Amino acid sequence: MKTNMATIHEAYSELTARGFACGCSVPAFEEVFPPGTCTSRYARRATGEFVCIPCAEEEEVRAFAAAGRYDAYLSGDGREVTTWTGRTLARVTSRDVRTAGFCGRQTYVRAIDAAGRVWHGRGPGEGMYVRLRRGRG
Ligand SMILES: [Zn+2]
Repeated sequence: MKTNMATIHEAYSELTARGFACGCSVPAFEEVFPPGTCTSRYARRATGEFVCIPCAEEEEVRAFAAAGRYDAYLSGDGREVTTWTGRTLARVTSRDVRTAGFCGRQTYVRAIDAAGRVWHGRGPGEGMYVRLRRGRG
C-alpha cells in the first residue's frame, strides 16, 4: 500500500502535467496540499479534468441554478445549504428532524436560494450531504 505522501505527490505531478481545465495556473505543491491538513485545493470533474476550487465553485453554483435536483451539504450550524467547498447555495428556512424507520434520524430542510426559489431536502444531518429537490412552497 502506498503512503499518503506518495499518493499526493503522484496527484500533484498528474495535476502539473495536465493543468487545470479552467485555465488557471497550478500553484506550488504546498498550496495545493497545505501541510498539516487533510485538504487538497483542487477539484475534479466527473470526467476527470482538474479544476481549481474557485472555478469548481462557480461550476457548482451554475449547475445548482439550472438543476431541479441537487446533492449539496448542510452546513455545520444547519443554517445553510452549501457546495462541498462551503460556498452558500441556499439559506435554510426550516429544519425538522424525524425518525426514519430503524436506521435512525433524517433531517428535512426547506431552503431558499439567492433567486428566491424554494428547495426541499433531506439528509442525515448537519455537516452531511443533503438531497435537494426544487419545490413550490
Ligand atoms: Zn480556475
